[in-house]
Amino acid sequence: MTTSQRIKHILKTGQPGEALTIQGWVRTKRAAKKFTFIEVNDGSSMNGLQVVAGADLPDYVASMERLSTGASVEISGTLAESPGKGQRVELQAKTIEVFGESDGETYPLQKKRHSFEFLRTIGHLRSRTNTLGAVFRVRNACATAIHQFFQERDFLWMHTPILTASDCEGAGEMFTVTRFNLDQIPTDKSGKADYGQDFFGRPAYLTVSGQLEAEIMAMAFSNVYTFGPTFRAENSNTSRHLAEFWMVEPEMAFCNLAGNMDLAEAFLKYVFAYVMEHCADDMEFFNQRIDNAVLETAENIINSEFTRISYSEAIALLETAIEKGDKKFDYPVSWGVDMQSEHERYLAEEYFKKPVIVTDYPREIKAFYMRLNDDEKTVAAMDVLAPRLGEIIGGAQREERLDILEQRITAAGLPKEDYWWYLDLRRYGTVPHAGFGLGFERLVQFMTGMANIRDVIPFPRTPDNLDF
Ligand code: ATP
Ligand code: MN
Repeated sequence: MTTSQRIKHILKTGQPGEALTIQGWVRTKRAAKKFTFIEVNDGSSMNGLQVVAGADLPDYVASMERLSTGASVEISGTLAESPGKGQRVELQAKTIEVFGESDGETYPLQKKRHSFEFLRTIGHLRSRTNTLGAVFRVRNACATAIHQFFQERDFLWMHTPILTASDCEGAGEMFTVTRFNLDQIPTDKSGKADYGQDFFGRPAYLTVSGQLEAEIMAMAFSNVYTFGPTFRAENSNTSRHLAEFWMVEPEMAFCNLAGNMDLAEAFLKYVFAYVMEHCADDMEFFNQRIDNAVLETAENIINSEFTRISYSEAIALLETAIEKGDKKFDYPVSWGVDMQSEHERYLAEEYFKKPVIVTDYPREIKAFYMRLNDDEKTVAAMDVLAPRLGEIIGGAQREERLDILEQRITAAGLPKEDYWWYLDLRRYGTVPHAGFGLGFERLVQFMTGMANIRDVIPFPRTPDNLDF
C-alpha cells in the first residue's frame, strides 16, 4: 500500500499542485454530468476531503458503481483549488482503488439524521458518524491533556489494580469476580459459598476506585495519579451512570485541602484549554448541533475563577433561596443532607454562574478516610460543581492521624483488619495528603454537551447491555 496522508493535514496545509494519496471511507457520492464528487473521511477530522473523479478515469463507470456510501478506498491524485464552497482544496483523482465495497441498500448509516438510541444498536458502525467521530476525537484529546497536565507537574502515572479484595468505601456496588461454576458453588458447613476454594481463596471484586492504592504510591513518590477503568454494579439507569467507566485520581503527599482545590481548578482549566486548541472544529460542531452552551461553558471554565464556599454556606444559600421564593426544589434542604443534583446545579448554574467548589461537608455523609475537621462535625471534603452537570469532581484531604482513622473505620462499621496496610501508612512516615476523583466520561459529557453518557464511551456497559 502507498503511504497516504491524513485528511486533517491536507485540509489545513495542502497546496494546489501537490500529488498525494488518501485512504478512508466514502461518506457521500454525488454524480454530475462529466464527473462525480466523492467525500472521503478517514476519521482524522470532522470534514472529509472532496474528491473529483472525472469521466476520463480508467473504468470510470464500473468504479463509480462500486463506490457507495461506506466503501473503503485509496485515492491518488493532485490537489487543486476548490471552486465549490466549503473547502479550500479538493483532490482530482488519478487512480481509485476500492478495498471493500459497501452495500448501499443495507448499510445502516443512511444520509438522514439517526437518533442516538438507534446508533447505540449499531455500536460497530456509529463511530463513522459526524457526532460520534467528534466525541471520540475530543475524548482522545481529553486523555492526552490529562496525562500532559500531570506529567508536566512531575506526577507519576500509577496503574492501580482492577482486581481487588477491598470494597473501597463499603458502597457495596461491586461486581464479584469468580472462577466458580455458578451452578455448583462449593459451600462451607453453614451452606454459604466457600470462597477459600475460589481462585484467590477469598472474595474478589472489580475495583470501584484506585484511591487507596494511589495513597500507597503517593507515600513513595509524593505526587501520583491513576487513570484507568473502574466498575460499579449500580442498577441506576441514568444518563450519567455506566457500569464500566474511567476514572482519574491524583493523590498528593504534603498537600492540604487548599492545595487540592488549586490542583482541581488548574486541571479543569488546562484540559478545557487543550481541547479548545486541538479540537476546535469538533467543539464548534457540538456548539452548533448538540448544545449551544458548549463554547460558552468552555470559556467560562477557562477564564473564571472558581467560587469556593463551605457546605454550611451552600446550605444557607439554598435555604435563603427557598425562603425568598426564588427557587423550588423537589428535595428538602437542611444542614446535614446530601445535596442533590438540583441543588448543585442551582449553585453553579443559576446562583454563581460558574464552577463552585464546596468544602467541609458533614462527616456523616462522607467517606471514613476524609480528614476530620477541628469542629469534629465536618470533614475536609471538596466537590467541584459545574454548571449544567452538578458534581464533576469529588475529593478530600485524607485522614493522616492513626488514632482518628481507626475510630472512623470502626464507626463506619468496617473491619479494621482489612485495612491493616492502609493504617500502616499512618504508622510509618504519615503526612498530610489529599486527592480527588474525576469521572472521565462525565468530563467528556460536560465538554461536548452530549446528553447521555452512553454516547461518550466507545462501548457503553449498562444494565442489560453488553453488546460489542
Ligand atoms: P453519583 O452521585 O453521581 O453517583 P458518586 O458519588 O457515586 O457519584 P464517587 O464515588 O465520588 O461518585 O466517584 C467519583 C467520580 O466518578 C464521580 O464524581 C463521577 O464523576 C464518577 N462516577 C461515579 N459513578 C459513575 C458511574 N456509574 N458512571 C460514570 N461515572 C461515574
Ligand atoms: Mn454513585
